[in-house]
Amino acid sequence: MTKRVVILGGGTGGTLAANRLRRATSFDEVEVVVVDQNNDHVYQPGLLFVPFGLADPHDIVRRRERQLHRGVSFVESAVERVDIQANEVHLGNGDTLAYDVLLIASGATLSLDETEGLTGPGWMERVFTFYELDGAVALQRALDGFDSGRLVVNVVDMPIKCPVAPLEFCFLADWYFRERGIREHVEILYVTPLDAAFTKPVAAERLTGMLADKNIGLITEFNTGEVDGARGALVAFDGREVPFDLAVVVPVHSGADYVGRSPGLGDALNFVETDEHTLQSKVAANVFVIGDAANVPTSKAGSVTHFEGDTVVDNIVRFLAGEVLLAGFDGHTNCFIETGFHKALLIDFNYDTEPLPGHYPAGVGLPLLKESRLNHLGKLMFQWFYWHVLLPGRDVPGLGADMPTAGKPTITTGKA
Ligand SMILES: Cc1cc2nc3c(=O)[nH]c(=O)nc-3n(C[C@H](O)[C@H](O)[C@H](O)COP(=O)(O)OP(=O)(O)OC[C@H]3O[C@@H](n4cnc5c(N)ncnc54)[C@H](O)[C@@H]3O)c2cc1C
Repeated sequence: MTKRVVILGGGTGGTLAANRLRRATSFDEVEVVVVDQNNDHVYQPGLLFVPFGLADPHDIVRRRERQLHRGVSFVESAVERVDIQANEVHLGNGDTLAYDVLLIASGATLSLDETEGLTGPGWMERVFTFYELDGAVALQRALDGFDSGRLVVNVVDMPIKCPVAPLEFCFLADWYFRERGIREHVEILYVTPLDAAFTKPVAAERLTGMLADKNIGLITEFNTGEVDGARGALVAFDGREVPFDLAVVVPVHSGADYVGRSPGLGDALNFVETDEHTLQSKVAANVFVIGDAANVPTSKAGSVTHFEGDTVVDNIVRFLAGEVLLAGFDGHTNCFIETGFHKALLIDFNYDTEPLPGHYPAGVGLPLLKESRLNHLGKLMFQWFYWHVLLPGRDVPGLGADMPTAGKPTITTGKA
């Protein structure tokens, strides 16, 4: 009998998993259904470039259903809740979808209301986020009219998608104001709840040095309790204040709302407890998770989602066949970090190995932990790669899902 795999979310993970699954199974064996609340697939790394006029908003959005292979059904509806006892998804349009296997791919949501004042006076006037398209477009207009004053880039709390993106925003802001010849009139401050510029010590040291070199201020261990857009100040829970003229805020993230409405499915933040190596959820054997929705201990990034694709699809096929699952995912993450002036850094790590210098993916390749034009070109090329290789679920010879060790001088082990 044909089994039905329902995939909740048609973003990066849902799309690439659906396409891989479609190729791995016959139409008779498996029906693949993708559900998403809308039909606009945004290439999220492009959101970084929109505020600086380096990407056209229209060029980073495509129809979701066009990214899905023939034989994958697309349902445009919000998910209302999941009943993991009855193996059913209840949709906002009133329909119910029964499943044999469920793949949660609904990513992370911006919880703007979690921070007092964030969307109050000044929102979209002097307080912005570039983490969604409307905000990125509005911020472009604001930056265009910003000639002097203090620009504050603030991460309210972790975890966030692409933890390097706010740092990249600072580096690009430095470049942007220099290009406009007004850098000496603009103070740039990076305000983070972490005790350093980044979570991983080796990369944090490198990135802290780069902030200093570019004359970007750094305030650490700042837990934002309120954004006062009327006065122009971030207020921390411990009473400290950081005044601003323009604030770029990365809001609190949580899992999708429906997870909270589905008994037994999510944790306190609506992320799903997931085995970090098999990507099977810990809540039900026939529920798997890919991408930002999982609570696995690595970055919420498209690269992670991509590398997870191999394991999660293999394991869904194995589960349907009654076979033992493979503990295939090693936490592999890589991130290009745009540093301005047509250069970028690349970092590559996994659950057990810190970002190291060297090259990716082998002895010859892109330089790691080092600014270079090649990495910048890699970052730009990635958009093409995303639509044409990553989402269709194609394999690239020489670029496997596991973190490569060739090209790296020493490998340190032990949990990062
Ligand atoms: C500014 C920015 C820059 C980034 N830069 C990079 C980068 O350079 N490199 C990198 O690797 N990663 C980057 N990322 C992160 C990357 O985009 C995400 O990690 C990746 O898209 C995660 O894929 P996903 O499938 O888990 O979630 P998504 O791609 O976000 O997809 C989730 C889907 O679920 C749907 N959904 C949610 N709730 C519901 C519901 N109730 N009902 C129906 N559908 C629902 C959403 O509509 C969405 O389509 C960046 C992200 C941002 C915001």
